[in-house]
Amino acid sequence: MEEILEAVWIAEESGTPTRERVRALSHGDWSDSLLAEMVAAGLVELPGDVIRMTDTGRCRSAGLIRRKRLGEVLLDRVLNLKGDKAEAIVCEFEHGVIPEVEKSICVLLGHPTECPHGRRIPPGHCCLNHEVDITQRITCVTDLEIGQKIRIAYVRPSSHDMLHKLLNLGLRPGVVIEIHQKRPTFIVRFEGMEVAMDEEVAAHLHGWRWEP
Ligand SMILES: [Zn+2]
Ligand SMILES: [Zn+2]
Ligand SMILES: [Zn+2]
Repeated sequence: MEEILEAVWIAEESGTPTRERVRALSHGDWSDSLLAEMVAAGLVELPGDVIRMTDTGRCRSAGLIRRKRLGEVLLDRVLNLKGDKAEAIVCEFEHGVIPEVEKSICVLLGHPTECPHGRRIPPGHCCLNHEVDITQRITCVTDLEIGQKIRIAYVRPSSHDMLHKLLNLGLRPGVVIEIHQKRPTFIVRFEGMEVAMDEEVAAHLHGWRWEP
């Protein structure tokens, strides 16, 4: 039923969710009795050949779509994972993640509004409850100016070696670093040390602007 609910949502994003379109978009089981079960569960109504979500159905569906797209952003930005493997993880994520984890991930990612495919992520309470200001957005270290500080949220690996190289330098999540120089080499200061690296290497570091 969850796969069908998701498919109705996606069909709605680009027009009328007719049975035919929803069926084409759903990658799970499909049968008339399954649809009848969904009607009985109060998730959808079936006026004519359209599948219309009830408020309950819409709420469930928004949660699924939200977790799916947050999962996509997480894999793309933080883990740099793509393809079939990524799709399988996203599917587990959307059907299995508890709300607390969903919220932490949304915060970590800076309350993203779009998935990597440019589709809208339904906002959660965490996105609506407060103004999302600059200190909650995730920025890449290379976008900062000299003297600015950032608290590392994650290291986006381009390779396993690179990830460990940065971690070995002490550049791990939670550390606050200050941009000391940008050219010709990138120099950051943290915990009383100065570390020089190429800009491509620095571009792996993402975090929250730090303004204590
Ligand atoms: Zn799925
Ligand atoms: Zn997407
Ligand atoms: Zn949020």
